[in-house]
Formats: sequence, structure tokens, C-alpha cells
Amino acid sequence: MKKIHILAIGGTVASVSDDPLSCTNYRTVLCGEEVLATLGREKVSGIADVTVEDIIKLDSASLTVEHWLTLARRVTEVLKECDGVVITHGTDTMEETAYFLNLCVKSSKPVVITGAMRPASAISADGALNIYNSIVAAASGKLEDCGTVICMNGMLISARDARKIHPTRPDAFTPVEMGALGCVTDGTVELYYRSARRHTVNSEFDCMKYDTLPEVRVLYAYAGAPDDWFDMCVEKNAAGIVIAGVGNGNLSTSWQKRVKELAGKVTIVRCTRTNGFVNRNGSQDDDDMKTVCGGNLSAQKARILLMFALAEKLPLAKIQQVFDQY
Ligand code: ASP
Repeated sequence: MKKIHILAIGGTVASVSDDPLSCTNYRTVLCGEEVLATLGREKVSGIADVTVEDIIKLDSASLTVEHWLTLARRVTEVLKECDGVVITHGTDTMEETAYFLNLCVKSSKPVVITGAMRPASAISADGALNIYNSIVAAASGKLEDCGTVICMNGMLISARDARKIHPTRPDAFTPVEMGALGCVTDGTVELYYRSARRHTVNSEFDCMKYDTLPEVRVLYAYAGAPDDWFDMCVEKNAAGIVIAGVGNGNLSTSWQKRVKELAGKVTIVRCTRTNGFVNRNGSQDDDDMKTVCGGNLSAQKARILLMFALAEKLPLAKIQQVFDQY
């Protein structure tokens, strides 16, 4: 029997409301064992030997880099002893935690992150089935070397590509244009693809090496956005800035000017606030501005990759390579 360890972090999956009709007003109170009890241990007794550990109990909006490092180290340790890890997590920043682990956990064993869009008390709560599917997926033997995987609403999505695109519906997660890795239906796992991008054992980043990571901030562009936000980043000693640019990672003329002034002082990555691929030296001159092109990474994930690249003190050209490979 496969050994699967659950690490519980909080989120809606660990929440209840007094009103079964309320899906958004709830308290995060359940410990990991109680979260598993919403499914019932007996449902997975023939699938895996499941152990549970409470590691953090927070709404995922309050998680920090330090929490991510603690989690990544614990996942790496636990995977030496067991066959897979399932993390029960808030959905709001699940894709960030997932990508963080994808980049720095040193194991090719399955790491599956799941949660719920509705509290455990709700009519049609989705947490129990998500937990069941995640345990099935982690124990299936099919997720070796797939990196961290998000399992929500029956879909298995690569941490790199997963995005939360809806605040309340159970089908909130999508790989956008990249496609799901696979699916879980009635206890059966079907796998269709693997990410071609570097992760986990094939990544040069290792969670055991860092106590903290360099400060990277995200600036969100819009028509008329002020350029004094760059001053704030400099005042706060940000080592990096990720810009969620408009369209093809485009910047206003005043932002272009500010970016050029910061060349050599702050590393700046250009992403898009849309969903899709920003191309290098396309509508913006990255060579001239000394910017890194973020490809199709969302700004919140580009921030994580840039933190690791800066922790390794990589030169600009190498940081671009990192963005092309991860
Ligand atoms: N507020 C919750 C969170 O911790 C939302 C959720 O879990 O769905 O992210």
C-alpha cells in the first residue's frame, strides 16, 4: 500500500459556516484530521496508508515566502519516508505555493495540492471529492516526475500553468491555454501530458539552501498608472520588479523611461496582465531596456521565479534563460 502524507494548511477546505447555504462567509477552524474526516478515512483505506500533519492554519492570502520555505522543506523531508504528499490549501494563492514547490522541492515523487471552493458545511461542498481525487492521484504511480500538481474539480493541472480564474465556482482552476495534465474520475487517473519545463529534481533551485529570498514586487499596469510606484520599490530595496504589462507586456512611455533608469540596479521582468505569451524584443525593446521577458508566466509566478534567480545572483542573460526554461 502506498504511503501518502497530508499536510494541512487551512483555506476554505478547512472551513465551516453556520449556514449550509453560505459559501463565502465561513471560519477556518478544521485541523487536518477533521479535513480528512469530511471525506472519511474509510473511503481511502483501500487506496493508501494516509497520515495527516497540521503545518500552518491560514487563509492563503496571508501566506508568505517564509511559510513557503517551511512547507517546501517539510515536503522534501516527508518525501524521503513516503510515496507522495497531498497538501490541503486555500485556493486564492494555491497556484503560487504550487509553483514555489515545483521550483525548489528536491524529489520526483508526487506533490498534489488541493482545496475547496465551498466550505465543508455547504450544500454541495467540493472539498471531500477534491481530497479523495488528490489521494487517488498521489497514490496512482502516474504522477512521478510531473512536478507539483494542482488537483481541483477532477482536473490535474501543472503548478506552472494553473490559474485561479473565478472567485467562487468549483471550476475556478484552469491551465488556461496549456491544457490539463490529466483528470481523475471515479477513482481512475488518466494522464495525457507532462510539462516540458524544468522543475523539482531538474531545477537548480533547492529549498534547503535559503532562509529567505530577495524582495521582488509586482506592478500592475493600466491606462494612466502612476510611475512613482518605482520609487517605492527602490526605497524598499526591492531587488526585482515584475510588471504585469498591458497586452504584449507593454509599458507606457513614462514606465519605459523609469525601467531604463533602473537598469543594472533592479532586475525587471516584463509579463502581461492578459493570458498568453509575451515575446522578447517584440512590441518592447528588452535589449534596450535591459528587461527580462516573462513569456507566459503570470506576474505572481514570475515573481517567484525571479526571487530564486536573484537568490542565486544570476546575471541578466542567465535570468532570461531561466525564464525560457522554467
Ligand atoms: N480564502 C480562501 C483561501 O484561503 C479561499 C479558498 O480557500 O477557496 O484562499
